[in-house]
Amino acid sequence: MNSDRILEPTPEHVERCARHLREGGLVGMPTETVYGLAADACDQEAVRRIYRAKSRPAGNPLIVHVARAEQARSFCEQWDDRCQQLADAFWPGPLTLVLKRSALASDSITAGQSTVAVRSPAHDVARALIEAADRALVAPSANQSGHVSSTTAAHVITEFPELEFPVLDGGMCALGIESTVLDLTGDHPIVLRPGAVTARALRNVLPDLEVPVIGEQGASPGTAPRHYAPHTPTELVTGGEIQDRLAGCSAPITVLSIGPRRVGVPHASVEMPDDPDAYARKLYAGLREADESDGSLILIESPPWTDGLWRAINDRLQRACAPPVSS
Ligand code: AMP
Ligand code: MG
Repeated sequence: MNSDRILEPTPEHVERCARHLREGGLVGMPTETVYGLAADACDQEAVRRIYRAKSRPAGNPLIVHVARAEQARSFCEQWDDRCQQLADAFWPGPLTLVLKRSALASDSITAGQSTVAVRSPAHDVARALIEAADRALVAPSANQSGHVSSTTAAHVITEFPELEFPVLDGGMCALGIESTVLDLTGDHPIVLRPGAVTARALRNVLPDLEVPVIGEQGASPGTAPRHYAPHTPTELVTGGEIQDRLAGCSAPITVLSIGPRRVGVPHASVEMPDDPDAYARKLYAGLREADESDGSLILIESPPWTDGLWRAINDRLQRACAPPVSS
């Protein structure tokens, strides 16, 4: 897709986007996880614009993105040795810390809670933008609320065709899956959202880490059962079930398969890698490709693995397939 809203991340374009942010505008920002929709974290009107653009429920708080740990500290009342150790070990990188908030973190970004989420992204363009804007940025994933996340600049335009904010093109996201959200406000550290930093990596710093069963986190606002979902009805099935499902259906089905799979007319397949890093990187692009195909149903081949990064991948796949909540 070609769009004059997509900007190469030259110093001039980064400066132009930084000015736009200082004036209360929104910018599509590449990060190493997924693309974010960025705004000045201390400009409440700009933050409201994010919620409107995404149709994001008001109870779903935002992550504050910073260039340095000192900038994160100003949004938190709580910053102890453990936070510093985690920042030293994992920042810049895909780890979000939930901490008791300071007065700088307004209700508009915390959804009225007494906690705030902070992270320092590792992508050079995100870091350059935060530095040039000279302020912390809130940056939820750049997609319509509940829909598939964006891992290219073109995806961001697809999600927001009517809006005019610019998108800095940082290429395809290197990790492709959201940050791990870690709550440090209770007696024990607890993973609220599995993500690109695995539990095993965190346990090097946090031996008493708690990782709830997928689907039972509940505690993190915004981790709704249905999320990351294509528009097309989507089901998670085992590899062994796929052939029967295809044979019994005359309407076209698109299979998100692990490795190559022959599906036969009128069906189609999108091939996903069996390596977790490569699978995560392609996850949202694969879901989008399946959604855009002719299939009236998407069958996702359930990865048979559960450890390491597969945990975060399975969390996203299960939510992508959860039934819509009827209102
Ligand atoms: P996204 O909108 O994809 O960037 O995801 C942001 C997620 O971070 C939210 O949906 C929450 O799950 C989590 N989060 C942000 N702020 C907080 C907070 N104060 N407490 C708990 N979780 C949070
Ligand atoms: Mg999101």
